[in-house]
Amino acid sequence: MTAKSDGPRARRIAALRGAASAALVLLALAAYQGVLDAGWLALAALAVAAAAAWPPGAASEPSDAPELAEAGRARSAEAVLAVVPDPVILVDRSGLVGEANAAARELLPVLREGQPLSLALRDPDVLAALEEVLAAGGGGAVAYRPRVPTERSFEVQIAALREGPDAPAEGALLFFRDFTEARRIERMRVDFIANASHELRTPLASLLGFIETLQGPARDDPAARERFLEIMRGQARRMTRLIDDLLSLSRIELRAHVPPDAPVELAEIARRMIETLAPLAAERGVDVALDTDGGPHGVLGDRDELLRVAENLIENAVKYGESGGRVEVAVARREGRVPRVELAVRDYGPGIAPEHLPRLTERFYRVDVAASRDKGGTGLGLAIVKHIVARHRGQLTIESDPGRGATFRVTLPARAEG
Ligand code: ADP
Repeated sequence: MTAKSDGPRARRIAALRGAASAALVLLALAAYQGVLDAGWLALAALAVAAAAAWPPGAASEPSDAPELAEAGRARSAEAVLAVVPDPVILVDRSGLVGEANAAARELLPVLREGQPLSLALRDPDVLAALEEVLAAGGGGAVAYRPRVPTERSFEVQIAALREGPDAPAEGALLFFRDFTEARRIERMRVDFIANASHELRTPLASLLGFIETLQGPARDDPAARERFLEIMRGQARRMTRLIDDLLSLSRIELRAHVPPDAPVELAEIARRMIETLAPLAAERGVDVALDTDGGPHGVLGDRDELLRVAENLIENAVKYGESGGRVEVAVARREGRVPRVELAVRDYGPGIAPEHLPRLTERFYRVDVAASRDKGGTGLGLAIVKHIVARHRGQLTIESDPGRGATFRVTLPARAEG
């Protein structure tokens, strides 16, 4: 470093200037690992580089005030660090914290400038990787998975800060990339494929079993054949329902960012669906009533999707709330800053225990798997409802008094009158 590296501010400026080379190392690393799509990373790194590597005398700085110019550069670099949304920490060659942006201080609340990083970041892998970078130069990446206050998942990219390629490390830059959300989505995707395969395999195994029985022991038993064929039909139907629901989900997801724009009357949707489901309700001995206020009940929506919402909610209320013998469907106008129209479906069945409520709209989540299968459920109905409601910029709420039924409420922005 320069002769000024003795003063604390000069040391900081030197570190920030070193950040320029570190930023470029990170960029190269990112490009090498194919993660340059994180555009802001490139931008932030370039900005740090620009701020810290501003050539002396290039700007309008007075030639007799190099200290002022350096202070300006340090401020620019600090400003850039402050807006980088992910944690960034600069340490000196003995592992003392030189700079840390707000995101880093939020992640590691005990982080203090001038104190060892190891006091705030007690992760042996990260500290060992940092030590290695400080000793040997270069850079590396290491996983960091804090468990408190919540479980999170980071990749820490560490790069040496040095004056030139062969110079010893004067410090290091630690850049934390947050993969928590990416990991959650990846886990969901893997679970989804496993669940869908499992759901299809069960009826398929049953079908194969019956085919073999029909080809073998039951070959000459017409009564057994009829019985088995009926069961096989049920299993094949179950697979069809599941595939239909999977296709619906993926179609809705594909259009998730295109808000639907056709005028739809929510009361008419509810009325139509109650009519369609009348045979099912009669079969189960459930009385379904519709209650509407003065309205208006117009929304901007996709008619088929809203019919699907009403179908899933009313059908569930009839199926799972059968013991209550009564289902009430209400469509009401809700005035407010943003006027809304609400569709509420209430049943008087067993209800749902509170611990299940937050997970009810997850794909394949059922309170009682056997009961759901028994009723022809796929475990995707409420996930479909949730996605449709989200696409309509609406809200779905579920209230339940275990033992006294459940109410599913969908509120959608009302269509502007006229
Ligand atoms: P399924 O195809 O199993 O009906 P859903 O996504 O529609 O799937 O519902 C998920 C689970 O939520 C159901 O399996 C059931 O356990 C529970 N559930 C849904 N509606 C009701 C209701 N009205 N009363 C009690 N439980 C319900």
